[in-house]
Amino acid sequence: MSLFVPMFKNLLSSLFKKPYTVRYPFEKKELPRIHRGHIKIDINACIFCGICQKRCPTYALKVSKADKLWSIDRLSCITCNLCIDVCPKKCLSSGVEWSASTSNKEESIENFYATATPTPISKPAPTPE
Ligand code: SF4
Ligand code: SF4
Repeated sequence: MSLFVPMFKNLLSSLFKKPYTVRYPFEKKELPRIHRGHIKIDINACIFCGICQKRCPTYALKVSKADKLWSIDRLSCITCNLCIDVCPKKCLSSGVEWSASTSNKEESIENFYATATPTPISKPAPTPE
């Protein structure tokens, strides 16, 4: 019996509260600034080294130096942010935008092609002995 009292209270109060859930994708919640979201790339800064592809645990990334292509499968990405941490050019970042909702695997792949030549990674100048 004692279990039913808090349960009943909870049930009653829930009848007069707004639901915590939203009808995504028709409604979207405002996300905190630190939210791990959509992986973004500054494609013209990418040097196509492929490190992000090698380190991605879900094989969501494909990098082609020959085609100057960086590609992400949004359905495979688990937003672990590992690619952001390992990128030597710091051209990856995490945005708070929502990924497009889809169940179609082909629609979930986004391709980015570089249109400019990136600046090479500068090596530290040798120290005089
Ligand atoms: S690690 Fe960075 S620079 Fe290298 S391919 Fe990935 S995004 Fe481009
Ligand atoms: S955030 Fe993680 S899962 Fe998503 S592309 Fe980067 S390394 Fe892969």
